[in-house]
This record gives sequence, structure tokens and C-alpha cells, in this order.
Amino acid sequence: MLSADFGNLQAEIDMVNRSEADWLHIDVMDGVFVPNISFGFPVLEYVKKLSQKPLDVHLMITQPEKFVKEVKAIGAFMMNIHYEACIHLHRTIQQIKEAGMQAGVTLNPSTPISLLEDIVSDVDMVLLMSVNPGFGGQRFIEHSVEKVVRLREMIDKKNARTLIEVDGGVNLETGKRLVEAGADILVAGNAVFKAENPTEMIHRLKQL
Ligand code: ZN
Repeated sequence: MLSADFGNLQAEIDMVNRSEADWLHIDVMDGVFVPNISFGFPVLEYVKKLSQKPLDVHLMITQPEKFVKEVKAIGAFMMNIHYEACIHLHRTIQQIKEAGMQAGVTLNPSTPISLLEDIVSDVDMVLLMSVNPGFGGQRFIEHSVEKVVRLREMIDKKNARTLIEVDGGVNLETGKRLVEAGADILVAGNAVFKAENPTEMIHRLKQL
């Protein structure tokens, strides 16, 4: 949603509702964990009313454990927190699950997959950042494809059912390679909202 036209949020969300998109991915930024501020819970209350798609909330904030209740209240089914923002990651994951949501852990581009070894079976999803979080419209970091391959291996080896989502610089070209590498879910911002025909672009991304 970060790449949507916020002056036309209702029309943008209606477009997503009519499209083949599975989820609506929402990036919340605090200006501390990332060098930008996006929007907060009052805006998300409005999104909750308009969206017919399940809400996949990605918190790019410090101390995300303080907001489990708020994220649940805006109707999120998936709450993604950053590995780099959580000292007690396991506890926060349990809190998210106890609140009745699915839990996702997110890695910045410089954070190695190997750090997930002891937590990957406990989370519903791993969200790999393929740009540095903070802004939409950035260039895809190539190394991300190889990270998906290695994460897929780790998950399969453990017989886990953890999903792999990739966020940042996703378009038809990078998306194809990510799916081939083993990604389950692609987050597309600019590729969709800046497309001439956004619903057609979503359709094409879904074919990958
Ligand atoms: Zn995101």
C-alpha cells in the first residue's frame, strides 16, 4: 500500500479489492527503525473498513511488541516484525499468536538467514527485504534471490510449512526469479500502483 496514491486511497483499495491480489501488504514506519514515517493506526482503521483483502501488516518499527493489540484491532491476519527490532523475538512471536494472528519475522538485506535457524519452525512466514526498508520504489538487491534459495533449503530440511515472502523492487522480471528460487508471496508496490493497468499487472504477477 506504500506506493498507493494516499489522496485517492479509497479508489486504490477498491482496485485491490477487485484484483486477484491475495493480501493487502501494509508498511508501518516509525522514523526511528527506518529513516521515514509512513502512516499510523488512525489511517489503518480507515483501511480496515475499505479493504476486502486480508491485511498483511509489516511493522518497520522499534519495540513492535508494544503494538500487538493495535495490529489485531485493525483486523490484521498476519503481523510481521523485524528480527533487528526484537531482543526477545521468541516471546513476541508467541504474543502475536496468542492474540490470534499469524506471525512473520522480517530480515533486512544485511541480516543473514542463518540467524533464523532456531526460530524458523515457530513462525508462519519469513519476510525477506530485497531493498533497505524505508522507502518505496527502490532498486532490487540481487543477493536476495540467493537468500530465498538458502531459506527454502532451511525450511524444507526442517519439514516446516513456513512461507517465504519477498518485499522490495518486485516486478515481473525480479518476481519470476524469486518464484523460481522458492518464494511463496511477492509484495509489489510501484510495479502495481504505477502501472498503466494495475489489475492487469496483478494478474500477470499472479501467473509467475
Ligand atoms: Zn513491507
